[in-house]
Amino acid sequence: MSQSVLKISGLKVAYGGIKAVKGIDLEVNQGELITLIGANGAGKTTTLKAITGTLPSGKMEGRIEYFDKTLAGVPAHQLIHQGLAMVPEGRGVFTRMSIHENLMMGAFIRNDKADIEADIEKWFSVFPRLKERAAQLAGTLSGGEQQMLAMARALMSHPKLLLLDEPSMGLSPIMVEKIFEVIRDVSKQGVPILLVEQNAKLALQAANRGYVMESGLITISGDAQSMLTDPKVQAAYLGE
Ligand code: ATP
Repeated sequence: MSQSVLKISGLKVAYGGIKAVKGIDLEVNQGELITLIGANGAGKTTTLKAITGTLPSGKMEGRIEYFDKTLAGVPAHQLIHQGLAMVPEGRGVFTRMSIHENLMMGAFIRNDKADIEADIEKWFSVFPRLKERAAQLAGTLSGGEQQMLAMARALMSHPKLLLLDEPSMGLSPIMVEKIFEVIRDVSKQGVPILLVEQNAKLALQAANRGYVMESGLITISGDAQSMLTDPKVQAAYLGE
C-alpha cells in the first residue's frame, strides 16, 4: 500500500445550525492526484479550510492526519513549514508586491538561494507571461495570470502536499487548459495534489481518484476513469 499523505476521517463541520460537512472520509496517498468535485455549497471549500485550520474555532469534529501526524491545533501559518501549500479560491496573491517578490515569498522557508532563482526562472519558462511582467504589481494581473502566479508561488515552497481550490474558476478555456497542463505536470513530478473543482470532467480526466460531495457527504468515490463512465456522475456532473 502506498504511503498516506492526508487521511481525513469522520470530518464534520457546522456553521451555527448549518451542517456544511456531515462526516466524510477522504485520503490522498503519495504520488496521487485526487479530485473533490460537487455543486456549489456542497462543502468542498469547508473541507479544505478544515485541513488548513482556517475554520472558526470549535466548529469541527473528526480527525485529519498528515503523514501520520494529526493536524489539529497546528496554526495555519505553520503549515507551510510542514510542506502543506494551498492555493485558495480567488488566488490570494500579494497584490501590492511584484510578481518576482510573490515568487520569492513562496520560497521564504527555503535557504537554497541559488536554487530559488533557478526555480523562478523555471516558472517563468512555464508561464512566459509572468516573466514579461516580473516587476509588475500582482494586483494588476488578470485573473488567469494571478492563478498562474498563485500556483507558481505555492510550488516555490516545494510542497509535500498541494491543495488547490477551484483553479479553473473564472478563466478562459485556453487558460484553463494551461492550468490543467501544469497540474498534470506537477503531479507527474510526484507532488501529491488535492484538487477541488467544479469542472468535473477536466478534474476527473486529470485525476487518479475522485470523490463526489453532495450536501456535506461523499456520495460517490473511486477510480477517476471509472467515475467518468459512471452514469450517475455523467448525469449530475458531466452534462451527459
Ligand atoms: P462553492 O463551490 O460554492 O465554494 P463549496 O462546495 O466549496 O461550494 P462551501 O463553501 O464549503 O461549499 O459551503 C458549504 C455550506 O456551508 C454552504 O451551505 C455555505 O453556505 C455554508 N458556509 C460556508 N462558509 C460559511 C460561513 N463562514 N458561515 C456560515 N455558513 C457557511
